[in-house]
Parts: sequence; C-alpha cells; structure tokens
Amino acid sequence: MKTSTRFFSWLVVCFMAVSIACLSLTGYRVKAAEFKTIEPGVLTVATSTGFPPFEYVGDDGKPDGFDVAFIKAIGEKLGLQVKVEDMEFNALVASVGNKTDVAIAGMTVTDERKLAVDFSDSYYDAVQYVLVRKGSNIRCMDDLHGATLAAQIGTTGNLLADDIVKENPQTVLKTYDRFPEAVNDLKAERVDAIILDKTPAQTFEGIYSGEIEAIPGDDFDFEVEEYAIALPKGSEQLGSAINKAIAELKSDGTYDRIINEYINADSGEKSNGIVDQFVSAFITSNRWTMYLNGLCLTIQIAFFAALVGIVVGTLLALMKIAKNRKGKRTILSFISGIYIDIVRGTPLVLQLLIMWFIVMKNSKDGVLVAVVAFGLNSAAYVAEIIRAGILAVDNGQMEAGRSMGFTRAQTMCHIILPQAVKNALPPLCNEFISLLKETAIVGYVALSDLTRVANQISSATYQPFVPLIGAAVIYFVVIKILTLLLGVLERRLRKGDIR
Ligand code: GLN
Repeated sequence: MKTSTRFFSWLVVCFMAVSIACLSLTGYRVKAAEFKTIEPGVLTVATSTGFPPFEYVGDDGKPDGFDVAFIKAIGEKLGLQVKVEDMEFNALVASVGNKTDVAIAGMTVTDERKLAVDFSDSYYDAVQYVLVRKGSNIRCMDDLHGATLAAQIGTTGNLLADDIVKENPQTVLKTYDRFPEAVNDLKAERVDAIILDKTPAQTFEGIYSGEIEAIPGDDFDFEVEEYAIALPKGSEQLGSAINKAIAELKSDGTYDRIINEYINADSGEKSNGIVDQFVSAFITSNRWTMYLNGLCLTIQIAFFAALVGIVVGTLLALMKIAKNRKGKRTILSFISGIYIDIVRGTPLVLQLLIMWFIVMKNSKDGVLVAVVAFGLNSAAYVAEIIRAGILAVDNGQMEAGRSMGFTRAQTMCHIILPQAVKNALPPLCNEFISLLKETAIVGYVALSDLTRVANQISSATYQPFVPLIGAAVIYFVVIKILTLLLGVLERRLRKGDIR
C-alpha cells in the first residue's frame, strides 16, 4: 500500500473508533422510581469550591464542606447516591436540570434566580460582609465609594458591588471566578475590599489572620439572605422529597452535627516556607496523583482532538481547493471557507461553552464535548496548513498523475497529499503543541485537567505559588519532550525513512 493510503486509512480507522466510543457514552435521562434524576439512582449535584467552609477542595482533591456533607445526608434520606461536580459559581444555575439535578453552593435565593430554577426550603441564613486588609480605613458604605472592589462573578456580593459602582462611577469593580483568587488580590493590594458572605469571609479572615479582616454587613446595611438548594423548574416531587429530608435532618440532629463539624472549623492549611508549601502542594494526601491524572486528561483530550482536527481539517482543505470541471470554485469550497472563518473568528473558550451548553447539551461527558470542541476548532487551522501544503506542491504533479492515467482524486490521494503532508508537517506539529496548551480551559466544563488541578490545589492550600509553577514546569517538560519526538519524526519523514 502507498504511504498516503496507509496514512489516511489509519486516520479514518482511528477517527471512527473514537467516534463510536464517544457516542456510546452519550444519551441519558432515565426515569427513576419517584422522580427523574439524570443518572438513575444518582443525585448529580453541582457546587463551586472556593467558598469555605461550605465548599472547598478536600484533602483527597474532591469537593468537601458543609454543603457537600449536607447534600450527601439528603441523598442518603432519598436513597440516592450523591455525585458532586465542581464548576464556576456562574455556571451553576445553567447546569441545574441540564447537566446536574440540583446545585448547592451557599446559594442565596433571589428573584432573578427564581426565574430559572426552583429553590428548596432555606437551610442557612447569611449576610454579605466586607473583607479588607488589616489596618484599612474602610469601615462603612461611604468608604467603599471610590475604592477598588472585588466580588465573585454572579454572586449576590457582585450585585451589591454593581449597585455601589452605579452610584459612584469612580468605584472600580473587579470580578473573579472564585473567591480565593480575589483574596489573593486583596493581600497583593490589587483590590481594596471584597464583598462576600459572612461565614466564608470569617473563614478567610481565620486563614490569613493578621493580614485581612472581615467587617460585618450591618455596618454597610446589607440585608439578610437565605441559602437554599437550586432545583430544576417544576420539579415538585424532587423538591418536596428534599424539603422533607431537610426537615428530618434538622429534627434528628444531623444538621447541627454537620454545622459543628464544618462551620467555623479551619478548612484551610496554610504553610509558609517553600518546603512546607511544596509538601502540601505535592505530597500531602498524595496530591501528586492529582497532577498525574490531570496531565493524563490533558494529553487524552489533546490527542483525540488532534485526530479529529487532522481528519476534519484534511477534508476541509480538500473541499476548499475543490474546483469543478470548468476550473471554477464549488459550493464545497464556499462552505469550507465560511466554516474556517467562523471558527478562526471566535474565541475558543466561547466555542467550548457553546458546545457544552447548547450544541451537545444532552451530553454529560465533558471529555467528549472537549474533544469535539477542540477537534473542530483545530480542524480550521489544520485545513489552512494542509491547503498551504497542497498549494506548495508543483502544479505539474497533477498533470503528471493525470497523464499516467490516474483520476484527479487518485492523483490527489496518492501523489499530491503525501507531499503536502510532508510540507505541512512542521506547522502541524506546532498546531498539536498549541492544542495541548489550549486544553487548559477545559475547567470551564468541569473537567480536572492539569491546569484545573493546579488551581484546585491552590485553593485547597491557599498557596498558589507551588501548584501553579509546578503545573507550568510539567507542561514545559511534556511539551519539550514532545517537540523533540516530533522533530525526530519530521526528520525521518523528510529523509523518507517512514513510508
Ligand atoms: N450567597 C452568594 C450567592 O448566592 C454567594 C455564594 C457563593 O459564592 N458560593 O450569590
């Protein structure tokens, strides 16, 4: 078999195998005995860590905290196994009834949220507090005017901060995906005050005692809020089962036990020396295994996305250069051109979110969604690389092929494409390396890749330095090794050792 035929047969076989494996993982929503849950017998719960003591990353790398313990107790009453998914706070409401059955994340009941979800009975009273640096002169509402404020995106603290900015346009608001990042910026003097809920504010104050302090919301006239569990709209049966469970847990003492266990308990482990930081970032609770799993996921997504990218990208390139008998461009080339323009003209992270929340909203397999999103994105770039590779092949080659009795398609497959692939190899390798780094945004669809793991560990240890630098070093080493390997492959292909 010729090089090209073998190369492309392999690609097609791999692509089909991946597609079949992926498709078999989709399709869900089976009716449970009393109420529907996404997975039968399992309550899939959305939360957002970085909100201690309600939810934070536990020593084992999994979400822990009051809310997690509470929803597990509720699950037990309901006879359901509880599976907790960690995501950005901002994504919780959209995920309820879609990717997850319920959300619990110290979520305040608000009229706006009630338009999208139903709420259980409330289980905790809260109020917003203001976190400032020790010695700051911010004490009341007037002092916030003109300051640089911080809040977590989509929270009630964010709404209050928006109002303050509206009243006084000199006030600046910086929003963060998770509170620990805001606390870091408060310590680094990038922001002056954070508006966040009382108990987490006090927990952060305890973790960084001496550096920051929490000022009561009464001093700012903030109103009382109530936390409740978010449920899909119209889920009466599930709602009343959860309310019954909450009432039972309150009367049988379980609720108080969990409150005593978590609220005001120190959930963070702060260590100062670099060796201590290294130990808590890598060694404590075998955290190194989390980086390893994250790295495997990163490589897995990048590898399969690259396969999708090469197969779809080659097809797009062929479509783009396709001409009809009269030598004119065809509709195929037009479609391919539009696809490439759209993909290259929109941010990758948006494409990933569109795939997750809209196009593949029924798939709860984040890896599959990520592979499809990254693969289809990469395809647009690969298409241009392969097209350039084809155009670089001398025109005479097509004529030579035709005069030997090959059809246009045969000449393309057997003569032009193999040379085009060789031409395109260096930029294709670059594309794969970019892809590997681009996967760092999969945390948006609740996947724990290497970057997300580093972020989770920095929120668990409240020390970002070692986890983030550590993850950067791991990426660097992997990409260096990959570059060397791809270099060898490229040289051998050029010399013609691999056919
Ligand atoms: N209680 C706040 C809200 O619902 C903040 C919750 C959180 O950040 N987890 O907006």
